[in-house]
Amino acid sequence: MTSLRDLPSIDALLRASTALVDRYGHAQTTEALRRAVEEAREAALQGAPVPPEAELVARAAEALARAARPTLRPVINATGVILHTNLGRAPLSDEALAALAGIGGGYSTLEYDLEPGARGKRDRHIERILTAVTGAEAGLVVNNNAGGVLLALTALAGGRAAIISRGQLVEIGGAFRVPDVMAQSGAIMVEVGTTNRTHLRDYAAAIDERAACIVRAHASNFRVVGFTESVPLADLAALAHERGLLLLDDIGSGALLDTVQFGLSHEPTAQESLAAGADLVMFSGDKLLGGPQAGIIIGRADLIEALKRHPLARAIRADKLALAALAATLEHYRRGEALEKVPVWRMISMRPDAIRARAEAWAAQVSGEVVPAESTVGGGSLPGDTLPTWAFAPRVTQPNVTAARLRAGDPPIIARVSGDRLLLDPRTVLPEQDALVIAALKEH
Ligand SMILES: *Cc1c(COP(=O)(O)O)cnc(C)c1O
Repeated sequence: MTSLRDLPSIDALLRASTALVDRYGHAQTTEALRRAVEEAREAALQGAPVPPEAELVARAAEALARAARPTLRPVINATGVILHTNLGRAPLSDEALAALAGIGGGYSTLEYDLEPGARGKRDRHIERILTAVTGAEAGLVVNNNAGGVLLALTALAGGRAAIISRGQLVEIGGAFRVPDVMAQSGAIMVEVGTTNRTHLRDYAAAIDERAACIVRAHASNFRVVGFTESVPLADLAALAHERGLLLLDDIGSGALLDTVQFGLSHEPTAQESLAAGADLVMFSGDKLLGGPQAGIIIGRADLIEALKRHPLARAIRADKLALAALAATLEHYRRGEALEKVPVWRMISMRPDAIRARAEAWAAQVSGEVVPAESTVGGGSLPGDTLPTWAFAPRVTQPNVTAARLRAGDPPIIARVSGDRLLLDPRTVLPEQDALVIAALKEH
């Protein structure tokens, strides 16, 4: 029979915890040991046996490790959602990662011009590749697309009217709502048409002397079906230009490649938006482009120049790491190698039989079955679209319990529960992570 008197003193525990003291310091270690003893005392009062000294030290070590672990951690995405916003959207290519390390680990020419040895401009690093890849006259990169849209509206429509269809007053992921961004920019929002149908004449009737621009916002994350009508971008451009207005196009995801070739719906591309006559096109860096978080604005050189000079541009500028990774990502498009090199496009273009082979390889080592399933693009793009895939369904009795255990692992693995099955989709698991997935599954 053990008793409370068998609980070791903090001093004794500290003597047995020199490695912890070295690692976490005296104060933190003492506090963790105190807490472990306190918990053991309370458990003992409820009748639990008093744990031995080594067990108390182990519990303190675990608590210290848990507290020291960063909350921002890499995870393995086995959900099959390619642009998982909660999991950080686009994973970067090897070349983009190398660019991050190369620029982030030292000093750089961020705002330095080597030839004269004098101050240079951060914008120039990205503008040349951006225009080369998109065919735009000029371009600018800011912190994210929400910032890019805010900047464009503030600089070009502040205090004047911006005309937009009621079908495009979208909310993206909660924090970005078109009406709120309009209000923040100081533009007077003029809504035209209805939720499901907006005609060219609706826009035309709304144009008055206050009007600065027509805005189109891509309804990225939902679909209106049935009795619907929207105006083709080229018609909007013609109307805007005839009446002396600008056409600003927020295309959201910003694909540079056509999604249709992979059996998906068409996602607007930056190139076609320019070709249709948009004066400025705005999109994200970390959605279908497959790069770092960034807001990309391309289009007319005089407008881009006006945006660069606006005070808000300084407040939402892109940092050197994003610029480095974005330039490296865009380079894949210039070389025509995006499908092979940009992870997002590699995942989209992955053949189902190649995915099946990986799922079978997992199944050869862990008991379970390989089942047909569906991957999605996610990230607020291509709603309702799916890509046929093969998922591994390990044999488990309680899928939710196993899912929680996989999340508690290191690295955490995020799987999907569908009905009474736990599904792991190899499409979004990086190939070098296969061994980690198998090892984690074997433990359960
Ligand atoms: C995603 C999205 C945004 C916001 O882009 P962030 O880069 O996340 O700031 C804005 N507009 C549309 C249409 C979008 O799809």
